[in-house]
Amino acid sequence: MILIVDDTPENLISLKKVLEKHNFEVDTASSGEEALKKVLKNEYVLIILDVQMPGMDGFEVAEAISGYSKAKETAIIFLSAANTETKFITKGYSSGGLDYITKPVDMDILLLKVKTFYRIYEQSRKLIEIQKALLDEIEFRKQAERKKDEFISIASHELKTPLTSVKGYVQLLDRSIDKGDVPTLKKHLAKAQVQLEKLNELITDLLDISKIESGKLKFNKQPFLIDDLLNSVIEIIHQSNPEFKLLKTGSVSREICGDEMRIEQVIINFLTNAIKYAPGTSEVHIHVEDRGHNVYVGVRDFGIGIDKDLQKNVFEKFYRVEETAIHFQGLGIGLYISAEIIRRHGGEVGVKSTPGEGSEFYFSIPFNATSEKD
Ligand code: ADP
Repeated sequence: MILIVDDTPENLISLKKVLEKHNFEVDTASSGEEALKKVLKNEYVLIILDVQMPGMDGFEVAEAISGYSKAKETAIIFLSAANTETKFITKGYSSGGLDYITKPVDMDILLLKVKTFYRIYEQSRKLIEIQKALLDEIEFRKQAERKKDEFISIASHELKTPLTSVKGYVQLLDRSIDKGDVPTLKKHLAKAQVQLEKLNELITDLLDISKIESGKLKFNKQPFLIDDLLNSVIEIIHQSNPEFKLLKTGSVSREICGDEMRIEQVIINFLTNAIKYAPGTSEVHIHVEDRGHNVYVGVRDFGIGIDKDLQKNVFEKFYRVEETAIHFQGLGIGLYISAEIIRRHGGEVGVKSTPGEGSEFYFSIPFNATSEKD
């Protein structure tokens, strides 16, 4: 918008008319004081300012405006009786740009100048936008870099823990062999195996992440019974967590077509989290249901739960709920991989949770998940 400041009403009206005829939006002020008030309230691309006015003159107005951050990008065209007057501007108006037109106003020249200032304004606005986008992008990079560094440090720590345990058990095995103590030897061997399995899972997850990143996560989709899969997973998890009661409700008799191993991975992830994030509890409920086109699987725990605001984040890569992360080991990638597997089966994952009461992680996939959503 353009602001015309002139104490002579005829000048205001005629300038306004000409500019509006050329599709410029125009506002007017009949004194320097009124102009200052308007500049504080509105944003102007350009101010056409009469120099000789009673009260504040045009130069005083320009000086005052130069202190307004709001008018930083605003250009000023003075309408002065003689062009030499501009040299009286002591405090330079350094922002949007300055120009002058001598009276009587040559409308063609004025229009030319107005158009030029508008073009400059548009270009500088675009430049500012580009600069802002670039700064945002740099910040986003920086953030990704920080996240990556943090992840490498957590991942190394997570890998080191089972590795150190295995080293310890191997030393103990050595001693048991020397003593010929077979029962202790078997005990240490079993413990080493558990740690090796942990290590294997961690490395498999890390490899899955890089496969997802490079678009190389492949699926082998075959018909299978989700009920059979759930029963077998529940048995496996129960063996390593005998203190937990894993209760299954519902059943689905139809076969689904999907990658059984990958779906198993999702269910194991949900179940191990349900146990991990529910210390002091002893039950997990698993519900399976035929919902026409889709099969629904929900894993409900009675653990710490997740704040409503944070629930949407848990499926993001490397995300861990900050307040609880120090109490539980993890890399924050299991749910990200699970979400990707379900998405690639054309399905959906989600969570319903109440802090302090527990969570239900669920997925639903179409019975015939032949088409992938990429
Ligand atoms: P990890 O458990 O290795 O951190 P996940 O990707 O499996 O990684 O989970 C991401 C985050 O989601 C966890 O760090 C935890 O904060 C939260 N979370 C996952 N499952 C549960 C659950 N059953 N109850 C509460 N919080 C959970």
